[in-house]
Amino acid sequence: MAENKKNQMKSMHSIDIDTVEMTLDIMKYAINRISNTNPELAAPKKEADLLKLVGETITKDGIGGEKAFSIFRDILAKAAVPVDHPRHLAFVPAAPTRAAILFDLVTSASSIHGAYWMTGAGGIFCENRAMEWLVSLTGLPEKAFGVFTSGGTAANLSAIVAAREAWRAKNEENNAFKGLLITSHGAHSSVKSMAQVIDADLILVEDDQEDKLTGKALQKTINNLSEVDRKRLFAIVATGGTTNAGIIDDLSGIASVCKKEDLWFHVDAAYGGGALAAPSVRHLFNGIEEADSITIDPHKWMFSPYDCGAVIYRNMQLAANAHSQKGAYLDIFKDDGAQGFNPADYQIQLTRRLRGMPLWFSLAMHGTETYTKAIERGLTLAQNAAQQIQDLEHVELVREPGLSCVLYRRKGWEAKDYVDWTYQNHQSGFALVTPTKWTTNGEAETIARFCFINPDTTEEDIADILKTME
Ligand SMILES: *Cc1c(COP(=O)(O)O)cnc(C)c1O
Repeated sequence: MAENKKNQMKSMHSIDIDTVEMTLDIMKYAINRISNTNPELAAPKKEADLLKLVGETITKDGIGGEKAFSIFRDILAKAAVPVDHPRHLAFVPAAPTRAAILFDLVTSASSIHGAYWMTGAGGIFCENRAMEWLVSLTGLPEKAFGVFTSGGTAANLSAIVAAREAWRAKNEENNAFKGLLITSHGAHSSVKSMAQVIDADLILVEDDQEDKLTGKALQKTINNLSEVDRKRLFAIVATGGTTNAGIIDDLSGIASVCKKEDLWFHVDAAYGGGALAAPSVRHLFNGIEEADSITIDPHKWMFSPYDCGAVIYRNMQLAANAHSQKGAYLDIFKDDGAQGFNPADYQIQLTRRLRGMPLWFSLAMHGTETYTKAIERGLTLAQNAAQQIQDLEHVELVREPGLSCVLYRRKGWEAKDYVDWTYQNHQSGFALVTPTKWTTNGEAETIARFCFINPDTTEEDIADILKTME
């Protein structure tokens, strides 16, 4: 009987010696990990092999916190690439600040529900200050605002749904049509996926000479649409820095066409948005201030930990019309006493982590000028890489750098050579640089690509990587 009572009292939240050990282990690991700016560049293993190393972890009685954590620290963490490694220049890398990561822990520890002001006020307040800064970078008018999302995909989806609902609200007849979007070939895969999610069609357009969507090419495409397709067309998705090459569409030209044709103008600047804070390239984004909605991923070039995206709207009411959820148990949140900003009303998610809190803390600690410098550093590294490539015999530039993306070719190499080179550098723990494709005159060529985010990457890192291609 006494034994029984004791077992009943031990809950998931009680503190025993195992919990204390586990807590200390985790704090020690976290401190070591964020202090290490040059972590081991790990590579994946097969799941079956990991299972052999780790054994069963989910059991009826639990394996204990210390053991479970040591399995993660000693085996599993070593089978995942640290995205902040200075020679990780593949895809879009990341380099969250120490302040942002620590505050991500604080965000978890604080257990705040981020959907509604009634429960999340203090946390949402932090997010809103960070959001004001993001909005100020875009040049959108004062009433524009936004919310943090899980990433660019969720931000793009939220914006496209808001656009579609605004279009349908304009004219009852539009309810009968399947929606149609226009974007560029360089647009991110998530734009294509999200069009599928909302069951809209998509036309890909590009100016042949410029490798980007221009106002002229857009106008021509619209002029050539059938009458029905013209009625179906509700939004244009321009890209503020393509993920592959850092190309920024002709935003002001596209903005003029959208205004003339009464179309929603969305700018996907998930990757490139960080560069809005960089004076050296800010002019390339001219026209973004005309957007109806903008996507920016702070987890890419604004040094936030995963995951953190943002969607910004010119007219918040149009976003609320599309996203505000209704339910008997939710009515309380709309009551007078709880009034305030409700992030749930402006994007697809209800329950949400306060993803903007780490960005707020890091911005508050460092100031915006530190961000500007760190982002400019990525641009400088790209220019430096381009110069090194031009000075070397065995490699050549495919095009001038676009923001912090550098596309280049190893003379004489075929697709397989790039793949072998990537694996060699990764397996040896030296660098992660992956190939991509670039299309000229309809022909896709495999080439190499750098994407710079981490300000701790050095010119020597670039030189050493180029040397591995000799
Ligand atoms: C990365 C990226 C996305 C997708 O963002 P996630 O945060 O990965 O969901 C969308 N658009 C562009 C231009 C991107 O670079």
